[in-house]
Amino acid sequence: PVASKFENNIVTSPFGDCQLHEMSMVQKLFESASRWPTKIATECGITGRKYTYEMMRQLIRRFGSALTRMGFQKGEVFAIISPNIPEFPIALYGASGAGMPVSLVNPTYTAEEMARQLSINGATALFGVAPMAATLKEVARLCPTIRRIILLGPPQEGIVSFQEMAQDSGDLFNENLDEDIFLLPHSSGTSGLPKSVMLTHFNMSSNVMQFLEPGGTNHQLATSDYQDVYVCLLPFFHTYGITILMNTGFQTGAKLVTLPQFDVQTYFKAIDDHKPTAMHIVPPLASLLLQYPGLKTESFSRLHTIFCGAAPLNVKTSAKLIERLNNPNTSLQEGYGLTETSPGILMSPLGNTKFGSCGPPISRSKAKVINHEVSDQALGPYQQGELYLSGPQIMKGYYNNPEATKDMISEDGWLRTGDVAYYDDEGNFYIVDRLKELIKVKGFQVAPAELEDILITHPAIAEAAVIGIPDEQAGEVPRAYVVKRPGMDSVSDDEIGAFVNSKISAHKHIKGGIQFCSAIPKNNMGKILRKDLRVQYANETMDK
Ligand code: AMP
Repeated sequence: PVASKFENNIVTSPFGDCQLHEMSMVQKLFESASRWPTKIATECGITGRKYTYEMMRQLIRRFGSALTRMGFQKGEVFAIISPNIPEFPIALYGASGAGMPVSLVNPTYTAEEMARQLSINGATALFGVAPMAATLKEVARLCPTIRRIILLGPPQEGIVSFQEMAQDSGDLFNENLDEDIFLLPHSSGTSGLPKSVMLTHFNMSSNVMQFLEPGGTNHQLATSDYQDVYVCLLPFFHTYGITILMNTGFQTGAKLVTLPQFDVQTYFKAIDDHKPTAMHIVPPLASLLLQYPGLKTESFSRLHTIFCGAAPLNVKTSAKLIERLNNPNTSLQEGYGLTETSPGILMSPLGNTKFGSCGPPISRSKAKVINHEVSDQALGPYQQGELYLSGPQIMKGYYNNPEATKDMISEDGWLRTGDVAYYDDEGNFYIVDRLKELIKVKGFQVAPAELEDILITHPAIAEAAVIGIPDEQAGEVPRAYVVKRPGMDSVSDDEIGAFVNSKISAHKHIKGGIQFCSAIPKNNMGKILRKDLRVQYANETMDK
């Protein structure tokens, strides 16, 4: 081990302490709107439908006021199940001004998956887009707490139209919300089923300020002849989309070009049309940018930053990407975080050349590494162990789940990540493995427990366990190990695959195969030994 220059082996941020304020996210957004009233805040990358900062501010007030007028009370949960559209922030900040924490759900989920997430937090209102009407009605049927469905689109029976709410006078609106919960995104944490993560206004506004701390990023404030432009393909239902694209973008007066779904041609057309100044990607998009034959380097002429996060980025891909975009002024920064950390917490610096590292902690954040098999003492540089994090962006806890919260956050405020990491002698972190159950497919969470719960509802299955296996395109894909019930030998893997996949959205499909076995390895508490299954999988691939 190398001697540590870090006191008690706790790595602190090399960046200055950012300003933290007591303002709510709504107040922060309104402050921006007053600085850049006539600049475009959001624009649909397909239809061109757009709103200036001032139009957005007015509509937020009206939307929130209409919710209060409809009888929604402070603390009731508002769910957004919507693709990226220019109205997304209006619904988000509007609901917030009605005192409603906003639950975020993936719009590509099946109605059952959506209902499972909303039953965790008892949401009472839903917002989506007109083509989703049938799905959202089914969600409301499955979740009896839901009183109203609001859709962007023409009025329909039994549905409130966004356009109608936009006519409200806007007088019933509250900007003062600092300690309240702003967001309830979902994460399975270190084990089990997805949980609603409580992120407060303070958590979220701290994370924006941490990102904008000078020296950390290249963000440039809008001026009369400059405006940052982001092409927002990464979904707003994940904290990466909300904090790093939406909230950070709005704090700098940026224009957010929203794309409702992933389509290669549309993505590149939006890049060519809007020439983004910063791009936010996940590793599979880095590969796409490398391989896409129609890439026009002039579309990247204004690009100051390419930011990649959510899953490990291959070192060679980073170097090749910078070469391909061919802009000497573009800095590639890698970020690491969790839904539970709002999400930003480690980020490589400007002018980053240490590809493969997620960099040091961002402003006001701390990190340490512990190998519990050896001791509870924090380790020095170059030693691997579980990564622990602390900072103002750490979640308040899991909604209605004090046990899971206690398991995740220690009494002195350190969050256990379930990731294996080490740091170098300059305090740059490298993520090397994952201890927790979580599988990440194209950067999206898949909780093995959710797939196992579905597998064992099949009449031929006695026991099941799911692990993630490496996949070149997606990063990881789920693979299932299944024990058949006696007398059920004839059931095939195709039949089981079709059964499970019909109940879940595409990114959770068991693309890594289904392996029949005689027993699932478990410890004496009955906990699945996924590590053993990973070793078994490695042996299976070696045999081939
Ligand atoms: P989520 O809560 O969906 O943001 O997922 C958080 C998890 O994604 C982390 O605990 C890591 O396992 C993984 N992750 C996020 N960023 C990175 C990164 N830059 N490198 C490696 N893994 C990452």
